[in-house]
Amino acid sequence: MTEAKLISALNEENLSHFSKTYVPSRLLLGPGPSNAHPEVLRALALNPIGHLDEAYISLMSDVQQLLRYTWQCNNRLTLPMSGTGSAAMEASIANFIEEGEKILIAKKGYFGDRLVDMATRYKAQVSVIDKSWGEAFTYEEIKYEIETKKPAIFAIVHAETSSGVLQPLDGIGDICRKNNCLFLVDAVTSLGALELLIDEWKIDLAYSCSQKGLSCPPGLSPFTMNKRAEEKLSSRKTKVPNWYLDLSLLNKYWGSDRVYHHTAPVNMNFAIREGLRLIANEGLENVWNRHNTNAKKLWNGLETLGMELHVSEDYRLPTLTTVKIPPAVDGDGFRNHLLRNFGIEIGNGLGELSGKVWRVGLMGFNSCEENVDRLLNLFDTELKKFSIFESSTF
Ligand SMILES: *Cc1c(COP(=O)(O)O)cnc(C)c1O
Repeated sequence: MTEAKLISALNEENLSHFSKTYVPSRLLLGPGPSNAHPEVLRALALNPIGHLDEAYISLMSDVQQLLRYTWQCNNRLTLPMSGTGSAAMEASIANFIEEGEKILIAKKGYFGDRLVDMATRYKAQVSVIDKSWGEAFTYEEIKYEIETKKPAIFAIVHAETSSGVLQPLDGIGDICRKNNCLFLVDAVTSLGALELLIDEWKIDLAYSCSQKGLSCPPGLSPFTMNKRAEEKLSSRKTKVPNWYLDLSLLNKYWGSDRVYHHTAPVNMNFAIREGLRLIANEGLENVWNRHNTNAKKLWNGLETLGMELHVSEDYRLPTLTTVKIPPAVDGDGFRNHLLRNFGIEIGNGLGELSGKVWRVGLMGFNSCEENVDRLLNLFDTELKKFSIFESSTF
């Protein structure tokens, strides 16, 4: 026998304390990921098949058809990209920006900042309009900015998960068309949960993720683009500066040719097919109604307990609620208590809302009455234990 030169500190004896992989059971009521549906987990656990197997190719077509339904669009180029939401976000920038081109980004939270960062890395000429975290842009503000700045792309987040704001998108598609500009929408926390009509709202390209509204684990990012976007892509003067996310290459695999580009994460595609099938089975409008009804129940319940919500009801986001941490309460203490003793995750505030709000998500499979009741009950019975001053009320 040859003596292999293994690293001695990493020998089998030292590693024998590892048990089989185990993770605690959690109810994920934070900003994502959300729990996966049991049927999705069943699909995920199937044995992989080849990514060019005819059975897999037919599954790809199912996924695309189900995605078109969920996006409410007829776009030929509709596909789940390999990677989390940020992958399709980056694809939207990498493919549609050429060096020096103007992009206008309407930023009202953390994810607007990420778009700015990506667009800057791809050497766009970036213009930004800002709103404080908790507010939405008006139609007039957006119209004015597009008409004066004349960008090649206008980008905005539909459901801002950092602040809990739902941005109305009515009429923006028309403004973009009149000004010869592409309309790019981040629908990461709205796809499969909230009303979203890609064709009717004249959205040219949009992206989302698998782990929020679609009841799947993280790992895929649905993407869709229409003819206007295809024309812009085919008129590029330079190569897309990102190989993995190059849509002209991805199109060869997800278009009619089915030519190898990268090995598809086949199990994640089994999972998303199942998540999308469950949505189609329930009916898109029923899914939207369920999310709205359960969110309203949460809002009313929190207000009844004397809590304050961060965002005004007109543009409050049903999938993610920002609730103010009462001044006398140790916010992190309560959050950790819920996780350690009840297995429930809620989120803390991001960026400028850190320490000021908790973020409660009701997304996909997790948007149900029972979860709302359970959480409200815990706010009622447990929160008083986290008052910084012994006898304070809030
Ligand atoms: C979660 C999220 C993203 C990023 O998606 P990842 O899956 O974390 O990469 C982008 N935009 C918004 C609005 C999000 O909520």
